[in-house]
Amino acid sequence: MTTLDASPAGAPAAGTVLAGIGVGRGVALAPVALVAAPPAVPADEPAAADAAEGEARVRGVLAEVGDDLRARAAATANADLRQMLEAAATMAGDPALAAEAARLVHAGTGPATAVDQAVEGFAAVFTAAGGDLAERATDLRSVRHRAVARLLGVPEPGLAALDAPAVVVADDLSPADTAALDLSKVAAIVTELGGPTSHTAIVAGQLGLPCVVRVPGATTLAAGTPVLVDAAAGTVEVSPSAEAAERVARRADDERLVAAVVGPGATADGHPVPLLANVGTPADARAAAAGTEGVGLFRTEVLFLDARTEPAVADQTAAYAEVIEAYAGRKVVIRTLDAGADKPLAFATQADEENPALGVRGYRLVRSLPGIVSRQLEALGAAVRALPAERQADVWVMAPMIATPAEARAFAAAAREVGIVKVGVMVEVPAAALLAEAILAEVDFVSLGTNDLAQYTMAADRLRGELADLLDPWQPAVLSLVAATAAAGVRVGKPVGVCGESASDPLMALVLAGLGITSLSMAAGRVPAARYALRSLTLDACRSLAAAALAAPDAASARAAVRAGLDADVARVLLGEG
Ligand code: PEP
Ligand code: MG
Repeated sequence: MTTLDASPAGAPAAGTVLAGIGVGRGVALAPVALVAAPPAVPADEPAAADAAEGEARVRGVLAEVGDDLRARAAATANADLRQMLEAAATMAGDPALAAEAARLVHAGTGPATAVDQAVEGFAAVFTAAGGDLAERATDLRSVRHRAVARLLGVPEPGLAALDAPAVVVADDLSPADTAALDLSKVAAIVTELGGPTSHTAIVAGQLGLPCVVRVPGATTLAAGTPVLVDAAAGTVEVSPSAEAAERVARRADDERLVAAVVGPGATADGHPVPLLANVGTPADARAAAAGTEGVGLFRTEVLFLDARTEPAVADQTAAYAEVIEAYAGRKVVIRTLDAGADKPLAFATQADEENPALGVRGYRLVRSLPGIVSRQLEALGAAVRALPAERQADVWVMAPMIATPAEARAFAAAAREVGIVKVGVMVEVPAAALLAEAILAEVDFVSLGTNDLAQYTMAADRLRGELADLLDPWQPAVLSLVAATAAAGVRVGKPVGVCGESASDPLMALVLAGLGITSLSMAAGRVPAARYALRSLTLDACRSLAAAALAAPDAASARAAVRAGLDADVARVLLGEG
């Protein structure tokens, strides 16, 4: 049925390290299994002898492919995969696709070529549209590959049955390819195309499989070659040394320990620290929903980075409702637009600012374009009201870049007016951290944005790589502002979360829990390590680590003090040291 490709000529030599984008932290060492290339259409495919018959064949094959994909959807237990397969099945049954292929057949094009050209026409439109629609091009091409193979009477593309664990290497994996994999034999997935939000990455993330996407040259690897896939590093090492192999075996064992810890975030003695996801789109939210307890930061501006004009309230409402629904019954913290500086929005950012990071960004938009802020709040209120109780989440809304209690008060009043019940603000400007108690008096919660808090505390542009040492959240000045904010929350009994990148450093997660931070929000893939870290220590132990970090004279010693306070095995696992 399906075959492994023959080893391609010019395959990368032993020791070569191919680089791509890693998904998660897993690591695996196994031989390459190449997914067979999709069938090519012969340049000289003859026209159908009878055009009406040719049309009937094309329509029949597209219908068969649709039925097959639907059957695979029904057979899979993975809800996301099922949804993707159903989407591909719908495309196979799309009358516009069949009509275009039929038109080409009547114009004298061979049937397989007609399907190929019709699909490519639609795929080009999807790709040009970008975003979620671009992902649809992969679904459409999986329909093309199956239909063309059937029309030419050649095997369908895919992977031969695996008899031992293998690293599956493909151009890109469609949901149908993924559904056909015997997952008990898949050690890792590597693709030449795709991206961190592609189907492959989403499914691999959910299954806990090490995965590296966008690896140029991946498909030139010879079948059977041992490769070391390191998702944390985003690398694929060809025929690694024995020493590297040993390190990997230890790391793989450690990763299994991390993955085996499931359930809500809590310390070893049961003090809850919910672990939430940072998301930017409904697709992110759906991908993160299975492994996280809620959304701790929905960066709404991400939805509009490409928009030339302000999106209509109805469009905004629909997008917000999708994210809320993905987390029905759980908590979703939505941040209002943080336009400006590192996140320019064509319709909101002032073009002539000399210091955009210190300019009219975040909530300050209310000074220049108040209508954008109020229309977004209107859309958020409408999104909450649009959903029936069973699809509703516990929606919290917060504003970015708040510097004064008066700003917090004004935002809270505006948000409550549209029916938002839980209103908060971000603490990412040192002024807000210093006045945390006064700010908390105006709102229901705060969330620390440690990326900007470090930038503004240390006066170091967060986009300048050469200033990374100053931007380190372990810097004593940054840590003490975080501690002061957490202490204010403890005093007044209101939640203080952290949603900056620092939350995803498992050692920092321990310190934050010890300081009294009430939830941690991060990229979904970072949650398992944070969960493992928290479950390894009691709250009292976290408090001692926090005290040690706060007493350290600089960032490196703060982190070293925490590391020194950990059991050696826990430290090795958390630091991925194998
Ligand atoms: C932060 O500043 O830490 C934060 C979470 O917000 P952003 O990274 O979107 O500015
Ligand atoms: Mg910020």
